[in-house]
Amino acid sequence: MKSDNSNSETVAVIGAGIIGVTAAYRLQRAGFQVTLFDKEGIAQGCSKGNAGHFATEQVFPLAQKSLLPQVPKMLLDPLGPFCIAPRYFHKTIPWFLKFMNNMRSKLFNENKEALKSINEIAMASWDSLIAETSLQSLFHKQGSLLTFESISSKSAIKVQQEYQAEGISVELLNKTQLNKLEPGISENVTWALLFTDVAHTCCPETLTKEIYLKAKSIGVEFKQCEISKIESDNVLVTITSKGQVYKTDKALLATGAHSKSFCKQLGYKVPLDTERGYHYMVGAAMQPTRPIVSYERKFIMTPMRDGLRLAGTVEFAGLNKEMNTKRADALLPSGKAIWPKINDTKTGEYRWMGFRPSLPDSKPVVGSSPRHNNIYFSFGHQHLGLTLAATNAELIADCILGKETEIPLTPYSISRF
Ligand SMILES: Cc1cc2nc3c(=O)[nH]c(=O)nc-3n(C[C@H](O)[C@H](O)[C@H](O)COP(=O)(O)OP(=O)(O)OC[C@H]3O[C@@H](n4cnc5c(N)ncnc54)[C@H](O)[C@@H]3O)c2cc1C
Repeated sequence: MKSDNSNSETVAVIGAGIIGVTAAYRLQRAGFQVTLFDKEGIAQGCSKGNAGHFATEQVFPLAQKSLLPQVPKMLLDPLGPFCIAPRYFHKTIPWFLKFMNNMRSKLFNENKEALKSINEIAMASWDSLIAETSLQSLFHKQGSLLTFESISSKSAIKVQQEYQAEGISVELLNKTQLNKLEPGISENVTWALLFTDVAHTCCPETLTKEIYLKAKSIGVEFKQCEISKIESDNVLVTITSKGQVYKTDKALLATGAHSKSFCKQLGYKVPLDTERGYHYMVGAAMQPTRPIVSYERKFIMTPMRDGLRLAGTVEFAGLNKEMNTKRADALLPSGKAIWPKINDTKTGEYRWMGFRPSLPDSKPVVGSSPRHNNIYFSFGHQHLGLTLAATNAELIADCILGKETEIPLTPYSISRF
């Protein structure tokens, strides 16, 4: 495969997660000479073990007032869906103050509109990328379910209406309809919402690696090294790794949860933290055919190529603390409660933890650096990095080419902090 056009300019993409890999592919297709850098390899960070859900229905920012009454109960359960490591608590205070500020109606609505506008174009971008790269076998458009065990039909309808008010296609299913769609679902589930326009992948790691292979086939180079410094004199960008120095015309920072220190080097104070999330892989006598999210238990299960992936939970404990395997194990009883066909066969490296890159306004940073004319950002995609990757890649490519982007990038600018 050849690039669409040619341009002798070089772009360094730092970070080979789904965000960096899709951008590298798109930029090379746009005619740039792209080099992708990563300290671990392709898709070895958060993009490796996520739940594989292209969750375009998730347009509500996490910073919402309805969360507040639930927080004290959640904090009392160290293995519950949300926890803060005691030794990390003081470090989270500035982040949480900003998070709470973003719950104010005006900011909540602005953030929601920004998430909505980027989510609205996300699926079309994935459709194009999947078609171009012939990766249909890794991309399944079966919709997803949000299940309810304890709330009344009236409350379920209210949730449905909230999504419909945002233009999301969603159907309410009763027990009979749900059983027909997913015969393995628990008797405890009384209602479910079916989001019809969403998709999932049966292996996010393979999907990322396959897109990388397509990128490589059109000329993207990969260097495995840990970058320690990024500098720009507005003519060239200098990238340093253990004494090695690379010069490039332009650079894109796509280092996910590890982006904060690079932003500092470039003159930006960005309130980036990580919401550590877990997965647990398990066998099942029968797999569901689409991702299933539990409203009450706050986790997701997705049918993967090599087993059923139970995923979720939010843990604030920074980038250095080892994973707490008990948090991964705690997903199993929740999984069995929704999907009794789970058996105790563990598949592969069955416990995993990843660093979601999270900003207190629930929006990513996407666009150019106002202080430099050759540095660009794409990080902070929190719970939606897989969902937004293909569209982010297009937005970034247009931004670097100096073209008008499909949606304005102002809401995602680094200058908002
Ligand atoms: C349990 C869980 C479930 C999730 N489920 C979903 C889901 O269903 N749908 C969805 O859309 N999102 C989901 N997410 C979120 C999603 O996984 C992330 O938003 C996404 O993977 C972020 O991609 P990224 O490329 O920005 O980061 P990463 O994948 O973390 O990539 C960043 C890369 O930068 C590299 N790097 C860092 N520092 C350096 C350095 N100094 N030098 C060189 N390289 C460096 C790292 O090695 C890494 O490979 C989930 C996350 C978790 C934890």
